[in-house]
Amino acid sequence: MSNATPARRQFASDNYAGICPEAWAAMTEANAGHEVGYGNDTWTQKAADLIREVFEKDCEVFFVFNGTSANSLSLAALCQSYHSVLCHELAHVEVAECGAPEFFANGSKLLLLGGANGKINPAEIDRAVHKRSDIHYPKPRVLSLTQATEVGTVYSLAEVRELVGEARRFGLRVHMDGARFANAVAALNVAPKDLTWKAGVDVLCFGMTKNGIAVGEAVVFFDRELAREFDYRCKQGGQLASKMRFLSAPWTGMLKDGAWLRHANQANGMAKRLETGLRGIPGVQIAYPVESNGVFAKLPPAVVKQMHERGWKFYTGVVTPDESRLMCSWDTTAADVDAFAADLGELVRVS
Ligand SMILES: *Cc1c(COP(=O)(O)O)cnc(C)c1O
Repeated sequence: MSNATPARRQFASDNYAGICPEAWAAMTEANAGHEVGYGNDTWTQKAADLIREVFEKDCEVFFVFNGTSANSLSLAALCQSYHSVLCHELAHVEVAECGAPEFFANGSKLLLLGGANGKINPAEIDRAVHKRSDIHYPKPRVLSLTQATEVGTVYSLAEVRELVGEARRFGLRVHMDGARFANAVAALNVAPKDLTWKAGVDVLCFGMTKNGIAVGEAVVFFDRELAREFDYRCKQGGQLASKMRFLSAPWTGMLKDGAWLRHANQANGMAKRLETGLRGIPGVQIAYPVESNGVFAKLPPAVVKQMHERGWKFYTGVVTPDESRLMCSWDTTAADVDAFAADLGELVRVS
């Protein structure tokens, strides 16, 4: 064992955090002996069954390495190359996946929608669908929603239903990027089924990496027909893990007794505490309603630099140029938040 002091917990990304105890314990257990490879193992079966229990639905589940592949492959499964996907202009699939959705879908185009606070304005769906209706326009096929959104807001149940209603009106399928789905469920305190298939979501990319596992996201098809040959798509896309049990076992640790929601609640609660701390500092502006585990704030640029010099890591300009993004993780503590806010407050006062 190393005696090195662990590095300070940071607010740069929920991906900076380590592996939570429940996921780690399941990995250890899965490491006890030999198991069948490529997903035909008992852990993967158990994890998929637990996901079906959580959603109270006989859905099809596939584990892939990361969120980009989950989004890209699932969108590719819904689209022909001449189709288009409607998404928010700040959507991860648009701004943070290096064109992977278009690549895996062989050219399906993303059509960008506006809306305040990172949420799609429902009227934008009609506008995008009817911008043109002839053969020269990429045929609208899918609406993609991010829940929780890229700026830390959460679509309410009513908002999801309204957006899905619009999508259905125009014959669109519905994809949900749930890299932070746990944070959204925890924030809304609703049944996962209500937020997804009961509202009309066809496929969910269910993230768990940002909530405490090492690697591996689940693609959950509520409409099983859409999952036809998805196993081949995963394999071709380099997403079929040979030692699949190490992707799937942590999910059993997260889901079997609600650790996924406890950790999401912790991260969400710390974001609220951080918001409160920052609101007390003059010259600091909170950019969006804080509804999940992220706080976006406008900080004086000189202070951003000084915070970095004090060893705090966070990104500025990921979403819009002048906003700093502060993400809380499953292991963020009140002391971490208070130390960050205290340093920020002190630097603002002396600047
Ligand atoms: C992190 C994230 C993803 C997944 O990203 P990967 O780095 O590919 O795992 C997808 N969507 C959103 C909204 C995210 O924040």
